[in-house]
Amino acid sequence: MTVWDTAEESARDGGTVPGRVRIRTDDVPAPTIASRRTQGARINESRPVVFDIRDMSVYYGSNRALMGTSMKIRRNLVTAVIGPSGCGKSTFIRSLNRMNDSIPTFRLTGEVLYHGHDVYGPGVNRVEVRRRIGMVFQKPNPFPKTIYDNVAWAPRNLGLRSDLDERVERALKQAALWDEVKHRLRTSALGLSGGQQQRLCIARAIAVEPDVLLLDEPASALDPVSAAAIEELMHSLKNRYTIVIVTHNMQQAARVADQTAFFSLDRIDQVGTLIEYGDTETIFRSPRDTRTRDYVTGQFG
Ligand code: ADP
Repeated sequence: MTVWDTAEESARDGGTVPGRVRIRTDDVPAPTIASRRTQGARINESRPVVFDIRDMSVYYGSNRALMGTSMKIRRNLVTAVIGPSGCGKSTFIRSLNRMNDSIPTFRLTGEVLYHGHDVYGPGVNRVEVRRRIGMVFQKPNPFPKTIYDNVAWAPRNLGLRSDLDERVERALKQAALWDEVKHRLRTSALGLSGGQQQRLCIARAIAVEPDVLLLDEPASALDPVSAAAIEELMHSLKNRYTIVIVTHNMQQAARVADQTAFFSLDRIDQVGTLIEYGDTETIFRSPRDTRTRDYVTGQFG
């Protein structure tokens, strides 16, 4: 089994621990209005790399869904993945924690390095991958159990039984749900509203203290108020976690993301590929590629 010691990795690649960000500032210029944007981008780029994705292509049987994707995802940032339907956004995010492994025809080439370790390397324990890299889906999917048992489920499965009450409380507080449910922890999770259920799913994912949270359109099935609560939550969670979010909502990406990756279909092959990646302000205000510009200005997709 490959053991990933994030604290050790952290010490090696820049000295942050979850919840505490140390930014190397030696190469950041003194703040001036003109340099502020560049400075923000450089601060992002100075953060330790969590995922180093190298020339990743994904196939379902003989159909290629994603081709030649290379990018680095950095610690304690929100990275948004945007692009038109069918360009491989879900495929991409699900490939980061081996969620596609259950699809028999799925095949991946290239490398997904997580803190320098190949997620698809020999001997890697998939359970451990998913413990460190948690995922929340578009449709809230609480188990038909109590609120408490939903959050306690993964810790119990991993044998983390001591201090379970504190762990459940901590996860629910981090997910901004504690005050709403603390008096009814032993009632069914299915009695919660859609927005509460989604925050419960986030609490369930963070109860095992992962390093990364993957969110696949987490707010798109919710009403605007609940969606705003999820966005708000992302701002507070990024101090502790590295967050990757797929969203079709460009305003949401612009509001929550530090970095944005625009995927689209390749002009020739009509296969999903990464077109442009950078700090969110650059992607939205001065993209290099005309396809990105057309998409973010609403002329395409
Ligand atoms: P997006 O999230 O951008 O809408 P997807 O990753 O869902 O894109 O899909 C990318 C391509 O992969 C599409 O052509 C889709 O039909 C195909 N695809 C996705 N999931 C599967 C699957 N389980 N089996 C076969 N093809 C799939």
